[in-house]
Amino acid sequence: MVTNSKEDFFSGLDSELNRLKDVGLYKNERVLASRQGAEVVCDDGRTLINLCANNYLGLSGEESMVRAAVEATEKFGYGLSSVRFICGTQTVHKELEAALSTFLGMEDTILYAAAFDANGGLFEPLFNEEDVIISDALNHASIIDGVRLCKAARLRYAHNDMADLETQLKAAAGKRHVVIVTDGVFSMDGTIAQLDRICDLADQYGALVMIDECHASGFMGATGRGTHEHHNVMGRVDIITGTLGKALGGAMGGFTAARREVIQTLRQKSRPYLFSNSLAPAIAGASLAVLQRLETSTELRDRLHANTAHFRAAISALGFTIKPGTHPVVPVMLFDAPVAQRFAARLYELGVLVTGFFYPVVPMGQARVRVQLSAAHTIEQLDTALAAFAQAGQELGLLTTKGAA
Ligand SMILES: *Cc1c(COP(=O)(O)O)cnc(C)c1O
Repeated sequence: MVTNSKEDFFSGLDSELNRLKDVGLYKNERVLASRQGAEVVCDDGRTLINLCANNYLGLSGEESMVRAAVEATEKFGYGLSSVRFICGTQTVHKELEAALSTFLGMEDTILYAAAFDANGGLFEPLFNEEDVIISDALNHASIIDGVRLCKAARLRYAHNDMADLETQLKAAAGKRHVVIVTDGVFSMDGTIAQLDRICDLADQYGALVMIDECHASGFMGATGRGTHEHHNVMGRVDIITGTLGKALGGAMGGFTAARREVIQTLRQKSRPYLFSNSLAPAIAGASLAVLQRLETSTELRDRLHANTAHFRAAISALGFTIKPGTHPVVPVMLFDAPVAQRFAARLYELGVLVTGFFYPVVPMGQARVRVQLSAAHTIEQLDTALAAFAQAGQELGLLTTKGAA
């Protein structure tokens, strides 16, 4: 039998890439020539106000972070060349795990190279075919992949729909363990999971609760501990995963925090932990410095929320459609993918960096630019950006009469 030639493989990829370009779904990378920050310099030499980083606390490019990383590098070296359990655990890793446990109000914490790995390595060691995982329909790709690697039965509830969650909890009756799994905050919409109600339902049906706090750790809740603090359910969530690559410094790295037995089990059996390198000492040391700073002051978190309130009120007043809420993720809805691309391109010309999001990152017909506020933004920078939104919106005919008036 004749198989297709090897060239067919490459030309097949090429035509799919061309198709993506034709339908306006192709994603280009912006190249920065500066540190991350409220303003960035792009490789064309232009300085832009940056509204699309996960740099919630404004720490990513901050000098104090560079110094903390250099200090940790000088003390602990550049890297470990080892997984944790062979010869890749240093005091700084243990200190960071302890500090994360305290910050999150959990018994113990295990570090990973990324939150993607924390989620990827979470379910398979803990649950099997006797168990069931009940997942929010819009959970992050890394949760979905992690759940796929595990033999437990899967049930899905409609996004953020507590009545449907209860229906699924009833359907799960008779299984050994039941775990409800949700993003604490949904990154595309800024929607905050109804954790108080989820914990009540979990209690009622004897289920465990797991949340992914990538868009919450460091700034949600009165002292920035996360969605569980925001909803006043600290101590009632069983498993928390999160990232060091967003608010908590922005380099990379992830973690899972839970009861001691859970973390001990993950250290024995979680594949991304057992078979992947230790977190770089620079990141461990600098992340530790971030947590120490957040334990002493809510200043960054407070400034972030003030910036968010300012931007949300002003962009609505201009006549843009946003998803309502209070989170620093502000989805400015444009619905059509090519329109979102054009709008982002025009804003770039006007000195504002935002990214268009469209299928498959968000559902078809739900294209948007996702604005993300940072504690590093000044009100003046936000007002400059808002003026650019108004101009681009008017030029592209996107504003409702409210804005045109
Ligand atoms: C960003 C993100 C991740 C992945 O985090 P990394 O540390 O970059 O791998 C996982 N889950 C959610 C909800 C995220 O937003």
